[in-house]
Amino acid sequence: MTPNLLDYDLPGLTGYFAELGEKPFRAKQVMRWMHHFGAADFDAMSDLAKSLREKLKQVALITPPSMMTEQASSDGTRKWLLDAGNQNGVETVYIPDGTRGTLCVSSQVGCALECTFCSTGRQGFNRNLSVAEIIGQVWYANHALGRDPKGERVISNVVMMGMGEPLANYANVVTALNIMLDDNAYGLSRRRVTVSTSGIVPAMDRLREDCPVALAVSLHAPNDALRNEIVPINQKYPLAELMAACQRYLERAPRDFITFEYVMLDGVNDTPAHARQLIELVREVPCKFNLIPFNPFPNSGYRSSRFDAIHRFRDLLVQAGHVVTTRKTRGEDIDAACGQLAGQVQDKTKRTLRRIEVIR
Ligand code: SAH
Ligand code: SF4
Repeated sequence: MTPNLLDYDLPGLTGYFAELGEKPFRAKQVMRWMHHFGAADFDAMSDLAKSLREKLKQVALITPPSMMTEQASSDGTRKWLLDAGNQNGVETVYIPDGTRGTLCVSSQVGCALECTFCSTGRQGFNRNLSVAEIIGQVWYANHALGRDPKGERVISNVVMMGMGEPLANYANVVTALNIMLDDNAYGLSRRRVTVSTSGIVPAMDRLREDCPVALAVSLHAPNDALRNEIVPINQKYPLAELMAACQRYLERAPRDFITFEYVMLDGVNDTPAHARQLIELVREVPCKFNLIPFNPFPNSGYRSSRFDAIHRFRDLLVQAGHVVTTRKTRGEDIDAACGQLAGQVQDKTKRTLRRIEVIR
């Protein structure tokens, strides 16, 4: 198969150029053309010898994913549906906020982990995205958004919080992260790239060694009984193990805290007793909390916590000395808010993890 050069980070591209008998600096040049300048055409690469350009045209491709639709919200949020083939689609969301522009990137078509409150999880799992499809979301969004009046890129932060569990597509996600961080490509700082995980403990340990970026952990429950139910991966990696993994991660993390995400589900996980248990649970882990009002989707069976319940919950955490943000819902009019990303997931034959028991 003809290689797609968007599948390579710098070491990979250097290896590929070595196979072609080309010097390592050629890989750097091509990396810059593809990602820094957004070129998808070898002819644009004016500092490569014509003979090399011709050779590359024969043996390689630069194929960004194609986007099926684009939607723009009244609040400036934009959402693209990327064509993942076989009538599958995954979503990418751009969220402008003052001087910050955050791109929310997907890592899989669907998700096998079946968190009960998540629209992606309810869709089942189809397949992992390739590196080109993951970094292609950044490539495409940069292309679509253009530059700001100062000529700078508008994407300052990337969060792996779109569809899928990034650490379940480990190798491709790490390669894509390397490209995001590479100065020849997007040059984002490790602090501004966040992986969000539901808590796959062994992969958290590997990420700490391979590519420590900022980490968000989808906690959502303060005890194993409840978390087993709503975040079923907890049955495999229970809270004590998860908290220990968070502590280990911090030894090499670019930030000195873990962000704990906590979706606020009415009557499920939002009482003062839950807040007190949560405070106890994270006692040994430097952290910040991000409370996410539940974003509804059809037949979810959940309601978002009431405004006063969220306030009361937040106040208890704050009184215990925690920094707490309550996530603003963005892009609601285009179903681009957290957990609403449904994309299109067909052919869910590869569902791997089944909920063992869900009592609601
Ligand atoms: N799989 C990863 C990242 C994608 S989900 C993870 O679970 O962390 C990004 C965040 O949105 C997670 O914290 C997830 O739990 C949360 N989320 C999922 N469904 C939601 C919903 N309906 N409302 C609000 N947040 C939701
Ligand atoms: Fe997967 Fe994350 Fe949704 Fe859970 S919350 S089903 S891990 S995408």
